[in-house]
Amino acid sequence: MMNKKIFQNIINKKTHSKIIFQDEKITAFHDISPKARIHILIVPNIFIKNLNHINKKNLNVLTYMLHMSIKIAKKEKIHKSGYRIIINCNKNGGQKIPYLHLHLLGGEKLKNF
Ligand code: AMP
Repeated sequence: MMNKKIFQNIINKKTHSKIIFQDEKITAFHDISPKARIHILIVPNIFIKNLNHINKKNLNVLTYMLHMSIKIAKKEKIHKSGYRIIINCNKNGGQKIPYLHLHLLGGEKLKNF
C-alpha cells in the first residue's frame, strides 16, 4: 500500500507508528526505513499531494513544515552537526507516497549527491 492512506492513518493514530510531534497543522514521525541515523518525516495534517499543489492559499503550511523541521532538528540535537531537508516530487524526484512530506536527515555525515 503505497498510497496517501499510509500517512493519513499515522496522522489519525490508526497505526503504531511513533509520532514524535503533532499539533493542529503537522505531524512528525520516524521513517520506517531510515536512510540516516536520524530520519524523520514531517507531513501536513491536511492532504496536499505534492509540491505542485502548493499555492498562495496553502503556502503557509509548507513554511510551517519547514519551521517545525528546524525546531525538531534542534530538539534532536543535530542542528550543530548539520542536517538535510528533502522533498521529493513525482516519479523523477523519487516520490513514492502521493502525500506531501518533508524528509529531515542527520545524525551522521550524509553522502553528497
Ligand atoms: P518518498 O520516496 O519521498 O515518497 O518517501 C516516502 C518515505 O516514506 C520513504 O522514506 C519510506 O521509507 C517512508 N515510509 C513508507 N511507509 C511508512 C510508514 N508506514 N511509516 C513511516 N515511514 C514510511
